[in-house]
Amino acid sequence: MRQFVVAGNWKMNGSLEANAHLLEQLKSQLDNTTKAEIIVFPPTVYLAQIQQICRDTGIKWGAQDASPNRPGAYTGEIAVEMLEDFACEYVLVGHSERRTLYHEDDVMIAMKFAHAKRHGLTPILCVGETLHERKQQVTETIVKKQLDAIVNLADSTDVFKHAMIAYEPIWAIGTGLTASPEQAQSVHHAIREHVATIDKTIAEQLTLLYGGSVKAANAASLFAMPDIDGFLVGGASLDAHQFVEITQCIK
Ligand code: PEP
Repeated sequence: MRQFVVAGNWKMNGSLEANAHLLEQLKSQLDNTTKAEIIVFPPTVYLAQIQQICRDTGIKWGAQDASPNRPGAYTGEIAVEMLEDFACEYVLVGHSERRTLYHEDDVMIAMKFAHAKRHGLTPILCVGETLHERKQQVTETIVKKQLDAIVNLADSTDVFKHAMIAYEPIWAIGTGLTASPEQAQSVHHAIREHVATIDKTIAEQLTLLYGGSVKAANAASLFAMPDIDGFLVGGASLDAHQFVEITQCIK
């Protein structure tokens, strides 16, 4: 049985006051009708606060990024070992904003993915194509290349065990444009098939999230697709009402 997930990527938003308010709203509005695991990804400086507020709730938390290196002389970076201090279970790897704004390439992302796994964190690998690539009809080629970078660095066939993949078409992130359920399903299916060429059982159990302008209004039709196991939500995760409604589609 695959794990269903609704994850909120807060990006570079929040404050002590705003986080406390948002989490109090989530705690009071989330109900047990959802079958989804709920995860929030705050900016790293707020992890202690999130740990304190969420520790005895059903809400899990993770980091938006982490270094591929052990602690040392890497000014400005956050080590996976430090995330362990805040009981993080998850880390986003290769979000498109990291790939484009901070020039993270597939090799760097594969190193981050492997390092997080080595330390027992569950990485959520983000993959996706630009609008230009979609128009060129190379979406699957791009996504498979992003997956293969992870596989090529790994030394075992269980590389996607204890991991998740988020398909996030770059043209849909923060734009208000969403992939149609059929477009998203087709890429999710291709991802699962590709992982199945490495390990069929892991592919069947792998949680595949969709991300890209997910809102309460489009979540149910996306979740109705057989290979969509939940969502990575950006903007709408800052609005407790929207976020809770999205979780309620997962039944
Ligand atoms: C994201 O940041 O991963 C994302 C999907 O953002 P949004 O929901 O705002 O498009």
